[in-house]
Amino acid sequence: MFTRLDSVNRIILSVGHGGLSGESYDPGATADSFTENTEAKQITVLLASKLTKNGLTVVLVPDYGLTKTIQYINARYDAHTDWAFEIHKDSIGKFVKASMAKRAGVYYHPTSLESQAIADKMAEVFKANGSNKTSWSRPDTASNHGRLAWIRQPKMLSHLLECGFMQDDLSTASDDFYATIIAQAICTCLGKTYQP
Ligand SMILES: [Zn+2]
Repeated sequence: MFTRLDSVNRIILSVGHGGLSGESYDPGATADSFTENTEAKQITVLLASKLTKNGLTVVLVPDYGLTKTIQYINARYDAHTDWAFEIHKDSIGKFVKASMAKRAGVYYHPTSLESQAIADKMAEVFKANGSNKTSWSRPDTASNHGRLAWIRQPKMLSHLLECGFMQDDLSTASDDFYATIIAQAICTCLGKTYQP
């Protein structure tokens, strides 16, 4: 489906925030006693299992903070055969309107047409499989930070995923929903038929 993905045979997954094994710990967004880092980890573990079931080689990187994680993947993995994702949940303040439920998003590199086309396809697959119709693909220049290290610094193709909001449903079923639509999107972009 995408020339850039023809050589990709391995998926690198990193949980957003964290840093238990290295830099000082960053919980990410919080809601009550829940942290974005912990919730993203649950989704990432489910996602890894679904991708493995679909015949993909998956690497779950250790729980380093962002800077060390990028150094780690650049030192060990490949610019052509790897595709890297960092998994997050968004924050929307005190409550989430029902109309915003199940909204997923993917950030891409603003100057790469392939990075954008792949992200656009992923958002399309999200919407076709039950995510909110406002699910999106955006350049990292549209993020709160103006640019995202995860998009700019890895040597391989990289995208950053937002799996709904910390103020929305945090159940295991919700984690499984996001893991499923992301696995579906990755398989579709790689030209594979997703197997549940
Ligand atoms: Zn985050």
